[in-house]
Amino acid sequence: MSGFTIGRLVPPHVRAFEAYVPSPPDDVLLRRFGVAHLHRLNNNENPLGPPAAAQAVLARFRPADAALYPQGDGWHLRRAIAGRFGLDAGQVILGNGANEVIGFVIKAFCETGDNIVTADRTFAVYEWLASFSGIEPRLVPLRDQGFDDAGLLRAIDARTRVVFLCNPNNPTGSWWDHARLERFLDAVDGRAIVVADEAYAEFAEHPDFPDSFALMARYPNLVVFRTFSKMWGMAGLRIGWMAAAPEVAATVRKTSISYSVNLLALEAARAAVWDADHLEATRAHVRQARAGLAELAARLGLEMLGGIGNFGMLRLPIADTVAHRRLMARGVMARAMTSFRYPGWLRVSFGTAPAMAAFAEALEAVLAE
Ligand SMILES: *Cc1c(COP(=O)(O)O)cnc(C)c1O
Repeated sequence: MSGFTIGRLVPPHVRAFEAYVPSPPDDVLLRRFGVAHLHRLNNNENPLGPPAAAQAVLARFRPADAALYPQGDGWHLRRAIAGRFGLDAGQVILGNGANEVIGFVIKAFCETGDNIVTADRTFAVYEWLASFSGIEPRLVPLRDQGFDDAGLLRAIDARTRVVFLCNPNNPTGSWWDHARLERFLDAVDGRAIVVADEAYAEFAEHPDFPDSFALMARYPNLVVFRTFSKMWGMAGLRIGWMAAAPEVAATVRKTSISYSVNLLALEAARAAVWDADHLEATRAHVRQARAGLAELAARLGLEMLGGIGNFGMLRLPIADTVAHRRLMARGVMARAMTSFRYPGWLRVSFGTAPAMAAFAEALEAVLAE
């Protein structure tokens, strides 16, 4: 007889954690909502896809090579990234999406009794990873829909190991400029690692957006996250990276997982790194979609949030969960924001022109119901 009872084996912080449930695949959703087509505007994907050079790499891939392990730590890609951003390859660590890199950093710097500091309404994965790792997440309320530097500084104590800034912030699109990030780093004064998650940095067209790679030379506790999922249109390949001062990168390398980035992702990303045309085309698309959403918001009398990024948020006069369901029934999927602590708001990714038109038409109809 097995004496197995799972409860005894599960640490309290895991028992208390509620698992994230991703949305089901499209075929399931189509059946569930009885629609023939679904416009997904919930994941901030790039409707232009990967850059042409990356698409060519994918098309050339030899299926038989799927049998081979990739090179274990992204030798060539790390050199390409370093060359592009003026770094040393030793400063760059790759992950299976930036999501995986969040875990590397928490594992490298935190032990039981430590805490991380971030905002209450930001990318939730920092909080989740800390929680189910037994590390206390300290959540500082946003101020004016953005990260509150004074509040973050007050929350830092002797057990704070990492401060996660989401810049620009998902979901509000708010951002800190170079001077503000620099003042914050001065005030933290090396007491904790400061992560600037710049998943949407390539969408920034403002000259005052931080040059974080330059700041890293003077602030060795600064860690920068980037991803190929958003601007580079490669979310399905799961690849992201971080850069840090050499000694910090060397420490994180210990807790990083070799071989976690697949062959296709490594090669496609290497082809994408220098592509400027794709960047310009995507920026033009985003400008147009943002203007369209602002127009819709104005027409429907809805408050809109959205600074930098390929998404915007709308405040609805009805529950976001209800709006979400009704939009689904019309073949449009936006992000209901109650679970991001933004009840009453929807986040909409800047998809193709037809998808944005379908969203506008569906939302207008839903609000008239
Ligand atoms: C999308 C996103 C990421 C993670 O992206 P990956 O697909 O895991 O690389 C990280 N941070 C923010 C703020 C994001 O929106």
